[in-house]
Amino acid sequence: MQNVKLNCGIEMPIIGYGVYLVDPSVTERCVLEALSVGYRSLDTAQYYENEAMVGSAVRKSGIPRDEVFITSKLCQSRPTYAQAMENVKGSLRRMRLDYLDLMLIHWPMGNDSEIWAAFEDLVKEGYIRSIGVSNFYPAQFDKLVREASIIPAVNQIETHVFYQQRPMMAKMADAGTAVESWGPLAEGLNGIFTNPVLTEVGAAHGKSAAQVALRFLTQQGIIVIPKSVHKERMIQNLETLDFDLSQEEMAAIRSLDTGHNLEGWPSDALKYNPNTV
Ligand code: NAD
Repeated sequence: MQNVKLNCGIEMPIIGYGVYLVDPSVTERCVLEALSVGYRSLDTAQYYENEAMVGSAVRKSGIPRDEVFITSKLCQSRPTYAQAMENVKGSLRRMRLDYLDLMLIHWPMGNDSEIWAAFEDLVKEGYIRSIGVSNFYPAQFDKLVREASIIPAVNQIETHVFYQQRPMMAKMADAGTAVESWGPLAEGLNGIFTNPVLTEVGAAHGKSAAQVALRFLTQQGIIVIPKSVHKERMIQNLETLDFDLSQEEMAAIRSLDTGHNLEGWPSDALKYNPNTV
């Protein structure tokens, strides 16, 4: 597996397995399957209510803890410093883990610097190896960084062939923050799996449209965490680093960018962000 080196020096697999909307009753089975086919990075969140099953799957897999990169995300409305400290420890208790590899603020909460101060202390105390944000756009990102000691290692944002986030890519590269794509397969919407450009490019490489869509992102160094509850698709999504798209193919796929996300918001939208509007 290819890794991305985060700004804190830690290596994170460029492909991981996401579990948003994976029902808690099947999460353990899905994560065990994902680990068995080779995934070594898992993306959960307090909001998904399946953290515990992710933790139990890792233990049942028998894979040493330090060989699996585990991410979760804080979801709490404007927690104080003390509440944020306790909140993260709650994730660790639910997952029965000693530490998390990456903890994200799931979306801007309005008092992000206070939460971030807790995250920074949790890093110092060994509860979290790296810290980042999700759904942070320029205004919120800049505000956080102005008051931070640690620059976010990752910003997890909606990114796919239909919403390529080029301005954010440039901004995150300047900041030294890795971009992690959520919804790398556009959540299966917009006819992505039968898109003529992706299908034609895929045919030239013996790959599916889904595989081309993922390679388009990883070839730019973007971390992806596709979700599927089907083993054969989990495998398909992993087998995407063994081919390269040509400059012409990359350009053709760039033309699919609509400049707005799946809900039609422009890239500086305060999606999921009632506290800061
Ligand atoms: P996704 O883009 O990964 O698409 C998932 C859909 O594609 C599912 O319907 C699945 O059945 C289908 N699919 C997957 N692989 C396929 C294949 N090879 N061929 C055909 N169909 C395939 O959408 P997602 O789950 O929303 O995003 C991935 C992960 O990102 C989530 O699981 C979660 O971990 C994370 N996420 C984070 C946020 C956030 O706010 N930070 C928001 C949404 C998702």
